[in-house]
This record gives sequence, structure tokens and C-alpha cells, in this order.
Amino acid sequence: MTDINEQKGPRRLPTLRFEDGEYFIDNRLNELRTVTPPVRPIEFVRFESEKGFRMLDECVWEECAKCGRMMAVPRQLTESATSCCDCGERMPLRNERQLEEAIR
Ligand SMILES: [Zn+2]
Repeated sequence: MTDINEQKGPRRLPTLRFEDGEYFIDNRLNELRTVTPPVRPIEFVRFESEKGFRMLDECVWEECAKCGRMMAVPRQLTESATSCCDCGERMPLRNERQLEEAIR
């Protein structure tokens, strides 16, 4: 059993590059939002919106091994892992090549 307390620290959200901007993927709120206000005006994009669907096309769904939560994570990874938004479990992410192999 791993102690969850060892995973304390700022929880970073995965980010997605889309068109000319960069967005946090917030699986807890089911939305994406601009990374860099006030350089850019903050924009909130619901997962369930026309733009949200297009942005989620650039993502894959990964399941948390601990609690089963489905998390949208970007195909183009900027990090090798993220944290489950429900239980905080560390989720290793696969790069695109590994994903293609998994689909075969
Ligand atoms: Zn979890």
C-alpha cells in the first residue's frame, strides 16, 4: 500500500496545445481553460461543446488504475505522468507510439 500523503504538492493539470493557444484540461470540472491569462484573455471551453469536442479529439482517455476515473489527457504529451483528479493517484502517460502499439 502506498501512502497517499507522499503525493502532496501542487497538482498540475495536463495541458493541450490547440490552434494558437494552450489550455489546461480540467477533468474535474469537465472543461478546458486558457493557460496564460492575462497574456491571453481567459477562455473556458466545456467538454460538451462544439470546440470542446474538437479539442478532445486531440486527447485520449486514460483510466485511473486506482479508482477507475476516466481522464482526458493530450496525445501530444508535455509530461510523462499526471494525477487522477479524484484520488490523486499518479497516472503514467503513454506517448503516441506506445498508444498505437496498444491499439494494434
Ligand atoms: Zn483515481
